[in-house]
Amino acid sequence: MSEQNFDLVVLGGGSGGYAAALRATELGLSVALVEKDKVGGTCLHRGCIPTKALLHSAEVADVSRESEKYGVHTDFHGIDIAAVTSYREGVVASKYKGLQGLLKARKITTVEGEGRLTSPTTVQVGDVTLTGKNVVLATGSYSRSLPGLEIGGRVITSEQALALDHVPSRVAILGGGVIGVEFASVWKSFGAEVDIIEALPHLVPNEEESISKQFERAFRKRGIGFSLGVRFQGVTQSDDGVVVTLEDGKTFEADILLVAVGRGPSTAGLGYEEVGLTMDRGFVITNERLATSVPGVYAVGDIVPGLQLAHRSFQHGIFVAEEIAGLSPQVIDDVNIPKVTYSDPEVASVGLSEAKAVEKHGRDAVATYDYNLAGNGKSHIIGTSGSVKVVRVVDGPVVGVHMIGARVGELIGEAQLTVNWEAYPEDVAPLVHAHPTQNEALGEAMLALAGKPLHAM
Ligand SMILES: Cc1cc2nc3c(=O)[nH]c(=O)nc-3n(C[C@H](O)[C@H](O)[C@H](O)COP(=O)(O)OP(=O)(O)OC[C@H]3O[C@@H](n4cnc5c(N)ncnc54)[C@H](O)[C@@H]3O)c2cc1C
Repeated sequence: MSEQNFDLVVLGGGSGGYAAALRATELGLSVALVEKDKVGGTCLHRGCIPTKALLHSAEVADVSRESEKYGVHTDFHGIDIAAVTSYREGVVASKYKGLQGLLKARKITTVEGEGRLTSPTTVQVGDVTLTGKNVVLATGSYSRSLPGLEIGGRVITSEQALALDHVPSRVAILGGGVIGVEFASVWKSFGAEVDIIEALPHLVPNEEESISKQFERAFRKRGIGFSLGVRFQGVTQSDDGVVVTLEDGKTFEADILLVAVGRGPSTAGLGYEEVGLTMDRGFVITNERLATSVPGVYAVGDIVPGLQLAHRSFQHGIFVAEEIAGLSPQVIDDVNIPKVTYSDPEVASVGLSEAKAVEKHGRDAVATYDYNLAGNGKSHIIGTSGSVKVVRVVDGPVVGVHMIGARVGELIGEAQLTVNWEAYPEDVAPLVHAHPTQNEALGEAMLALAGKPLHAM
């Protein structure tokens, strides 16, 4: 048995945990970071980075198929999944090496092994007791399933989907949220037939309704099938494939079923309840300053109810480190955290939808402008359609931006600055957007909302 003392012990080395550790050492605190697998967590090894690498391969496949349109002759010979995997793994390996180097350079003590919270100030890893003046819990999340739906064989989650060594010819996807539609987009580009099953009335159901509708049109045009508003009933599997049945009796045959119905908090059996933390369905309940019900213990990232996004986890980690160091950081509000869905087309949004803005401020106090990307030169050049919708309070700030189209994820930087700085369209309108860029679409919407539209009515 050995005992080591730190200012801060962080349990879980994913986006939230390692961000807390990095910021805490910057602030002069001594930190132990406990990780049972690989630092970087879900995002780096099984989430954001590998899926976006896959989506890039998918985009290259589409570009080469459509190159004639732009006067370029190419021959598309298909997808070499081994080469796609090696490219994807190369990106992850390089980021992983960089992160390990950074943690070492900041003199963070990384402890390998499965940790357990044994008191408000201690985490046990094997026979090592790590004591911290404060403890940050950052144990992340896992792919959930539905009651009675067992994962195994041809019924897979995103982890197995990433590891597939072939392109399936037919795929059924349960769940039309971000993970489901991103895999749908990749597999369609790789040549598979794809059907999505979503119980809610729309794909990407957490987005502004007008965006969901445009998204559905775009997926329909790409030949991606989807069934909306009907619940999944069951699946059978054989050596040849799966048969998925919906409650309305409709069936889908496919090689595999990807279950993408959300992620649950990884908190079971880690001592949280025993130490007295308030929990709700496995999530750790915190106040807005991310403090749990036990003094000195904080929670960050996917185990805290709300948006499960890597950049939220990073921000949580930074926040908690600064809070512990006594800097009184500004509270992070989930509503103003940007969201991007990296499929083709992309969807990017921040802030309130029009409906939510009306609910909050009243119908007469909300104005919107929907700028069609058909009027944007750069969007035309790269061959994308879509729109940028801006929601403002009348005589007040921009409270929401909702975008769809190729590459609009890259526009979210300006959109989130505008919303989070509570800028008025009149503040943004005189600022110059380079021509021709897709950012001009945001500029045009701001000009229109400020009462002086340029290339719009
Ligand atoms: C397919 C997919 C795609 C995604 N794409 C995006 C995206 O594009 N953009 C985005 O913002 N988000 C994306 N996400 C979500 C993002 O990955 C998560 O929100 C983020 O990783 C959460 O960070 P975290 O630190 O809370 O948890 P995690 O990253 O899950 O890290 C938790 C860490 O804790 C470790 N751990 C758990 N229990 C213990 C224990 N007892 N002892 C020691 N270590 C332990 C785990 O091994 C893990 O490394 C995606 C997720 C998936 C699954």
